Amino acid sequence: MTTVRYAPSPTGRLHLGNARPALLNWFFARSHSGTYILRMDDTDTARSTREFADGIERDLAWLGIVPDALVRQSERTALYETAKLKLIESGRLYPAYETEDELDRRRKRARAMGKPPIYDRAALRLTAEDRARLEGEGRKPHWRFKLDGKPVHFTDLIKGEQTVNTASMSDPVLVREDGSFLYTLPSVVDDIDLGITHVIRGEDHVSNTGTQIEIFEALGGKVPFFAHHNLLTDAEGQGFSKRLGSLSLSDLREQGYESLAVAEMAALTGTSLPIEPYESLDAIASRLELSMISHGSARFDPAELDSLNARILHAMPYELARPRLEELGLASEPLWLANRQNLNRFSDIQEWSKLISGPVVPIIEPEDREFIDLARDMLPAEPWDEATWILWTNALKERTGRKGKSLFLPLRMALTGRHDGPELKALLPLLGRRVCQDRLS
Ligand code: GLU
Repeated sequence: MTTVRYAPSPTGRLHLGNARPALLNWFFARSHSGTYILRMDDTDTARSTREFADGIERDLAWLGIVPDALVRQSERTALYETAKLKLIESGRLYPAYETEDELDRRRKRARAMGKPPIYDRAALRLTAEDRARLEGEGRKPHWRFKLDGKPVHFTDLIKGEQTVNTASMSDPVLVREDGSFLYTLPSVVDDIDLGITHVIRGEDHVSNTGTQIEIFEALGGKVPFFAHHNLLTDAEGQGFSKRLGSLSLSDLREQGYESLAVAEMAALTGTSLPIEPYESLDAIASRLELSMISHGSARFDPAELDSLNARILHAMPYELARPRLEELGLASEPLWLANRQNLNRFSDIQEWSKLISGPVVPIIEPEDREFIDLARDMLPAEPWDEATWILWTNALKERTGRKGKSLFLPLRMALTGRHDGPELKALLPLLGRRVCQDRLS
């Protein structure tokens, strides 16, 4: 049974960059009939808020992601306490008392001596008396995980064989002085407890994976498969920051982008699956494989979002558009089909629909007056359909010798008051004979 999780920290709004793992996990779950868990990594109580957490749920729903379960780390502390004791008992978690300043000085000294600034494990050499004395001075311990110091190997489902050498890393702090947990341990405890089979996350976590595999093993848990994807960057190669606010999903939604366009850009940039209008997230899920994710960069191009958004609208079947058109009071299939080709944003349909409902100020150049009068007189009898336009303009062509632009443009300008717009053959039946007659007059 495949189980994945998307594990955002609710310390900001979702943006394109962190929508990427949300979607990649979703596609994986859908294509493997798996379970998708939304896990709020909210152990950092100073920066996590319920508002941000609720916003994340809303943004995911907008994208089309409906998690099977939601868990909050802030409600699961008892599990982490149990794991902490287990690690202390097995000698893998040890108390350390250095202050930030002390650690900083030691790192500088190490660098000055040409050594890597790795924690020197001085705390491991403290005797029970040393510890009692330090605690007597009012110091409280933070807790470090004792790394094995051996290379950790794993087969990444995207990046292939990986080795993380924990010998070149400091023993990570798992528990802060105030007893709160950092991300590293709760993540592993939850992955074990929730039966996570695949951890799909950004490649900035590869070295964490080295540490976490050691923790999985120390806790006797089953190590899941890992897949580390490339990170989405802006055109300059800079990462998206969730506190930047720009290109947050809620901003993009407000700007009227289709959620599917946003989802595709977030997930498919930097993969070998072409970015084109798919019918749904499921249609992408059935095509995308982890192996299609590039090892190189994933640069987001805002112009591509605009063009994809338009292409999605141009191809959107009426059935899909209908509920939204109903909300605008514009639910009409011929109206949709006549105008969708001109949309950049869905809401543009309101402007285009005014070509039909009016008011429209016809543009008729003095030199075209006679031609337009003739066109009015030659309007075919109703009923009208898509063939009416051809019929009418063929007759006009024969009669006047006009063709191409000099035939079509004056008609367009008189009927719509614009130089561009929807195809007239689709528009004509929507306008009807009376309206056409009025505008041509
Ligand atoms: N909260 C972590 C993050 O947002 C989760 C990483 C992970 O998936 O394990 O980076």
